[in-house]
Amino acid sequence: MPDVFNWQLGRRMYYPHAEAHPDRQFAFVFNINRCIACQTCTMACKSTWTFSKGQEYMWWNNVETKPFGGYPQSWDVKLLKALDGAHQAAGRNAAWAAGDGSDPAAPYGSFGGMTIFEAAHKAPQRKDVALGYEPSEQEWSSPNFYEDTAAGAKNHRDTLSMESAELPEHGTWFFYLQRLCNHCTYPACLAACPRGAIYKRPEDGIVLIDQKRCRGYRKCVAQCPYKKPMFRSTTRVSEKCIACYPRIEGTDPLTDGQPMETRCMAACVGKIRMQGLVAIDEQGGWAEDRTNPLYFLVKVARVALPLYPQFGTEPNGYYIPPRWAPRPYLRQMFGPGVDDAIAAYSFPSRELMAVLQLFRASQTIVFRYEIEEGDKIFERTVDGKPWEIFNDTVIGYGQDGREVARVTVEEPRYERPDKHYNSI
Ligand code: SF4
Ligand code: SF4
Ligand code: SF4
Repeated sequence: MPDVFNWQLGRRMYYPHAEAHPDRQFAFVFNINRCIACQTCTMACKSTWTFSKGQEYMWWNNVETKPFGGYPQSWDVKLLKALDGAHQAAGRNAAWAAGDGSDPAAPYGSFGGMTIFEAAHKAPQRKDVALGYEPSEQEWSSPNFYEDTAAGAKNHRDTLSMESAELPEHGTWFFYLQRLCNHCTYPACLAACPRGAIYKRPEDGIVLIDQKRCRGYRKCVAQCPYKKPMFRSTTRVSEKCIACYPRIEGTDPLTDGQPMETRCMAACVGKIRMQGLVAIDEQGGWAEDRTNPLYFLVKVARVALPLYPQFGTEPNGYYIPPRWAPRPYLRQMFGPGVDDAIAAYSFPSRELMAVLQLFRASQTIVFRYEIEEGDKIFERTVDGKPWEIFNDTVIGYGQDGREVARVTVEEPRYERPDKHYNSI
């Protein structure tokens, strides 16, 4: 039985294919706390890749309102229910044995439940490689269903809590979840395809559907837990996010041959997105690369977490969780690292404060950063301990070592002289 190591689960797991890993992996970090749901990312993708006939309801990038929204509708609730049912039928518990972060092979501890692959493999009828379902046309038809609808008293829709809002948890809450294909380490779409039409590129881990081999069986649509492959009725084949691979390959003239961030990342108005390429070691984990900003955020600061790691695909999208949402909800969505991630984000270390400034500082992918120390600009006491902010400068370097970004923690201010008042 093929058996692979999933570091997000801190254990080996069943996967239908033998372990194989790319040299580098496409990955991204989204800071949920900053998203304003302007959908500029969504439209940047749509206007580049999915504006043609048959793609009208196709949104490779989407931003949905949690807890009630989803594209397709209720995608995660449906899968969580199915996974829960599988655990009950098997008499299993889906709990985590939480870790303290000291073991790099199991930074979030160890997941004791079944993944979508294991649940399908253990099922008596065993007809699919992963637990899943194919959404109806109706479910695909409203990408921003329940936009800005809050959960209020007793977590019900439209029943507002009358308590004043205070951290760590607001009585009335919602947040925006930004989604695209996670270019998973163990893609369920790839495992599900009976035609072998889906492949993961060895040079960057991007997962693609070969449009010539695909016959439109929609197994990938049913078995991707994140519901990111979509069927196109005009061509009768499935499509998905291609990670804007020409930009990753550095063919856009703007970045002079260097890898460039994708359309949805580069367009982000809220500066919530950072995307890059991380080096992969021989065991399939992230090779130590201390000054790569993604490595720092995910592995060192541990401020960004995978989306539904319990599904088992080892997704390569990471999220800084929203500070105000109920912790049990967030732990279900991002695993047991939520409390540490929110603590790290709420009172960032000096280094984290600097690295957070790199979000959207350049369209060229940053492979390495350096920090030049600046003066102290703020101090206060938090939980009896001193906390300070320094006006450090963070410098980002591209693949070829050239400087591509330079940002200070304190935003520079420019006062227009009186003589140019109200002129441009
Ligand atoms: S562009 Fe950025 S801020 Fe706007 S919806 Fe997308 S992720 Fe959120
Ligand atoms: S998110 Fe879905 S479509 Fe994307 S690689 Fe993972 S399983 Fe495949
Ligand atoms: S990476 Fe490119 S193809 Fe994928 S969702 Fe973003 S813009 Fe669309």
